[in-house]
Parts: sequence; C-alpha cells; structure tokens
Amino acid sequence: MINIAKQIAANPFVKIPCPNCGAGYLQILIAPWKPNEEPPKVDVHLICEHCGARNTITKEAEVVEKIAE
Ligand SMILES: [Zn+2]
Repeated sequence: MINIAKQIAANPFVKIPCPNCGAGYLQILIAPWKPNEEPPKVDVHLICEHCGARNTITKEAEVVEKIAE
C-alpha cells in the first residue's frame, strides 16, 4: 500500500490496478481531515470499480508533498 500511496502522490489521476482482483482499477477519493488538524492529514480511499474492495490510507499532507518531489 505504501507503493500505491507514492503513485497517488506523484499523480492523483493514476490508474492503479486492483491488488485484490486484478481485473479492475481503483477509484481514488481523497478526503482531508478537519482543516485545523495538526499535523494536517488526509484519508485516501481506494475503491475497486470491479470487485468493490476498499482500502483506506491515512497519511500526513506534508508527507504527500515530500513524496511528490
Ligand atoms: Zn478489484
């Protein structure tokens, strides 16, 4: 899942094959936490359009920027 987080950080519109079924791609929904949360964090929801498998990655917003460099 860390690798997927890096791919999303590099390109939020990347098409990621579902690790569960391998037949579909993951829909990516990024949901920021409360704006005054310290440190700022976002939940990244990954939902397979084929089998419906769901994963959630929680990460610090600052980390996203570091990975994207
Ligand atoms: Zn799937």
